[in-house]
Amino acid sequence: MAKRALISGISGQDGAYLAKFLLDKGYEVHGTARDAQISSFYNLQLLGLKDRIVFHSMALNDFRSVLQVLNKVQPDEIYNLAGQSSVALSFEQPVETLESISVGSLNLLEAIRFTDSPIKLYNAGSSECFGNTDGQAANEETPFRPRSPYAVAKATAFWEVANYRESYNLFACTGILFNHESPLRPERFVTMKIIKAACRIARGSTEKLYLGNISISRDWGNAEEYVEAMWLILQRRHPEDFVIATGETNTLEEFVSEVFREVGLNWRDHVISDPSLLRPSEIMVSRANPAKAFKNLQWRASLKMRDVIKIIIGTERVEIP
Ligand code: NDP
Repeated sequence: MAKRALISGISGQDGAYLAKFLLDKGYEVHGTARDAQISSFYNLQLLGLKDRIVFHSMALNDFRSVLQVLNKVQPDEIYNLAGQSSVALSFEQPVETLESISVGSLNLLEAIRFTDSPIKLYNAGSSECFGNTDGQAANEETPFRPRSPYAVAKATAFWEVANYRESYNLFACTGILFNHESPLRPERFVTMKIIKAACRIARGSTEKLYLGNISISRDWGNAEEYVEAMWLILQRRHPEDFVIATGETNTLEEFVSEVFREVGLNWRDHVISDPSLLRPSEIMVSRANPAKAFKNLQWRASLKMRDVIKIIIGTERVEIP
């Protein structure tokens, strides 16, 4: 019998790649959106998967809705990828962010407990929870010091999952993922904003690219690789949390410089610093130690920042002079 997976937030970047990964593994894949009737599932269409997935409407902040979907689908594994996922937007919509992530996770955990079935749960955690680590590489033991409403919500969901695992013996795990990009990333994220603008400028646009703080550092990987780690986390004998990252940190300035270099331009001629884009609080250096994932999951990122930039620019089909 094929295993049955339920992916919440299947319309997003990770949802689409995870759906592809699980279908290739022979899973029956069900996916939820807040309103599955009106969602175009554009990313799934792009990957040619839309017809192979069973869709359901589910509002994670509504326990009844969550319970109904769980009872109907009876999944073996749930991947909770849904929720407000932008750090920047979380400063504008803190309540929506907290509700969709932390109340959403709690409803899922309660619903699993209520159905009393051996469902395994993957929770999409975030490196944003670590905050500033003074340049130290964060691992699974590093304390959380969240610096945005998004990070506070993700930290809350992390502890909910840990608490339900300990208290009720649920197979529930968090993958603490560092930034991961792909051609499916929306333009409201700074990485895609940079790549799209650079490609348009390379094609002749005279626009300027306005950016906030480019001295921040992040660990950027490839989304398509990261979904395998999500699956591996649920295939273990015992539930545990894992940091998933490349282990390589670069500044945003290096990211910008590499993108423009890749399309044959000098970033300094096209980028303007815009103080209005600075966040109320910011993580300066995000650094990861993914050693546990390599040791226990035999998972390692093979693509680093420069590879990811090349992949995304490749899909933009820009003529490089
Ligand atoms: P996306 O934003 O692409 O997808 C998230 C999905 O969640 C959306 O497609 C949407 O589905 C749903 N959603 C959005 N806003 C809300 C809301 N307010 N309430 C309920 N549901 C909402 O995210 P990614 O695929 O990039 O990321 C997947 C998960 O991993 C997210 O939880 C994200 O926070 C987390 N993460 C991502 C990282 C990254 O670098 N990409 C890094 C670390 C963690 P719909 O509109 O169909 O309901």
